[in-house]
Amino acid sequence: MTVSTELSTRTLNNYVGGAWVEAPGAELHDVVNPANGEVLARVPFSTAAQLDEAVAAAREALPAWREVSTIARARKLFELRQKLDDRKEEIARAAVTEMGKTLPDATAEVGRMIEMVEAATAIPTTMQGRVLEDVARNVDAETIRQPVGVCAAIAPFNFPAMVPFWFLPFAIATGNTFVLKPSEQVPMTQALVFESIDELGLPPGVVNLVNGSREVVEGMLDHPGIDAISFVGSAPVAKIVYERAAKSGKRVQALGGAKNHMVICPDAVVDPTVKGLIGSGFGAAGQRCMAGSVIVTVGEGHDRVIPALVEQSKKLTVGDGLDQGTDVGPVISCEARDRISGWIEKAVEDGAELLVDGRDPGGDPEGSYVGPTILDNVKPGDRIVGEEVFGPVLAVVNVDTLEEAIDVVNASPFGNGVSIFTESASAVRKFRHDIEVGMVGVNIGVAAPVAFFPFSGWKASFLGDLHAHGLDGVEFFTRKKTITSRFFSGGQTSGSYFVEH
Ligand code: NAD
Repeated sequence: MTVSTELSTRTLNNYVGGAWVEAPGAELHDVVNPANGEVLARVPFSTAAQLDEAVAAAREALPAWREVSTIARARKLFELRQKLDDRKEEIARAAVTEMGKTLPDATAEVGRMIEMVEAATAIPTTMQGRVLEDVARNVDAETIRQPVGVCAAIAPFNFPAMVPFWFLPFAIATGNTFVLKPSEQVPMTQALVFESIDELGLPPGVVNLVNGSREVVEGMLDHPGIDAISFVGSAPVAKIVYERAAKSGKRVQALGGAKNHMVICPDAVVDPTVKGLIGSGFGAAGQRCMAGSVIVTVGEGHDRVIPALVEQSKKLTVGDGLDQGTDVGPVISCEARDRISGWIEKAVEDGAELLVDGRDPGGDPEGSYVGPTILDNVKPGDRIVGEEVFGPVLAVVNVDTLEEAIDVVNASPFGNGVSIFTESASAVRKFRHDIEVGMVGVNIGVAAPVAFFPFSGWKASFLGDLHAHGLDGVEFFTRKKTITSRFFSGGQTSGSYFVEH
């Protein structure tokens, strides 16, 4: 990312204490449209003092916000839901322009983002505690849930709308206050979303946005005013975040990178399977944390499915995500394009057969395009099977049995998503039981759980205990308090709590 020289370009602001504020003295970096290299805006890399201001605003807002009734907090989310729905297309277009995915894909992402808000409106039910009468004679016990405090989230580039909302609605619904740092590569979508948040008239400081990069993240991890950190991004950074935030005593959930497999059994139904493989492998140009990137074919599953996959993949149109008819948009940057091309070269050096070559797919010469790529005869131990490429590249490994396919998947250091394509219930039963991956799709290519279930990655794809959204999200953003009580007036018997059982 280059420091901008174009003074006419719009500079983004932070949102702190209920108002848009400039970030004076912050270094400004270009936000680039990956479809054509156009500079869209300049994003400030906020300073430590600017982060301090946001955290101070969130701390100040905390006592009054946690006193607001749960139903009143939920009502604010109902309002937010409507405002986001009203601006759905505008938000989707912003995501396409700065991230590169196609408009239908971005529209689906915004739909998922809105579902997060909808799920969080259930807070008067999902935040309830538990009570048991008579744990001893005339003694009751109950566990209630209270907010954790000031919660911060750090987002990646690949879902500019949705990923921040894996956290924001659940955090504020449960009575916390919140500071978001969007990805510096895609900060414009949340700038738009925060316009809707601003219209809600929330008490100042309940929700804040601080633009920036690594320095802001490190500041958050060490900040004594922040109680919990939610992170989504690459595996190496997830590890840094997890360790450093834990060291400073914070609650932390860190979602890392992925390498997702798709297992094709000999009885897979060809057409929908090919459709699933294409959507999973090439949707968002392979830049989803749930993107399929390794196809493991079992026996004749290879010859039934791969030729049809190759044929369909060659028909896909690469271009600007805003153009109708584009199937695959650009990858996030020229740097990413070159890295992905390097992976294709390495795989060929390692002996893979290049069935579809996506290098040099055409498109705007200033854009960062890689087309659908399929590599066959890849060996389970090849580098491309073990490491994340994060581009539209499918590597095909062929094995003889389902057991071997499961071994290939389980050898991966990652454990985010996996899919199996088969009509056999017994194969599915074995697979879902034995597979060491946290999110499993059966005849579904991208099995990303809906908002009311947890995003439950395993191994290097997730560090922490409580996952994003679903009931785990409510657990993450609340602290349990257990109260044991008895009263002596009113004729109840009294005595020793410990002996009178
Ligand atoms: P990234 O790790 O480069 O950046 C993520 C965030 O961390 C950004 O906000 C960035 O500013 C910050 N950051 C980057 N380097 C840092 C450092 N050294 N120290 C502190 N902070 C740093 O990830 P990305 O390229 O934006 O996103 C793509 C990655 O995210 C992929 O690996 C993808 O698999 C992963 N991802 C995972 C999930 C999941 O659910 N597991 C979901 C989405 C994306």
